Amino acid sequence: MNKYKLRLIGILLIQLVITVIHNTNAGSVDVTDLFQLGNVTYLLGMGWGLFAFVYAIKLGCPQCGARQVFRSLSIFSVRWPQEHCHKCGAKIE
Ligand SMILES: [Zn+2]
Repeated sequence: MNKYKLRLIGILLIQLVITVIHNTNAGSVDVTDLFQLGNVTYLLGMGWGLFAFVYAIKLGCPQCGARQVFRSLSIFSVRWPQEHCHKCGAKIE
């Protein structure tokens, strides 16, 4: 499997874990808690989500520069990165 696809799956799994932690804590946040776990996981989730988004956007072909995840502006053209470029066929590594 393509290592970029594995990395992307890993990033999305971490996002999922952060979201789950946030949701399980959101209803039981003690207002006197100085650490504000609910806010921390919220900010962490937003920050990590942004990182995942930027990472996915920056995945490009080394030959022609074509984006491999967001292939066009449409949400329906989001794909997992593959072994070879979808545009020119160059091996991506
Ligand atoms: Zn290419």
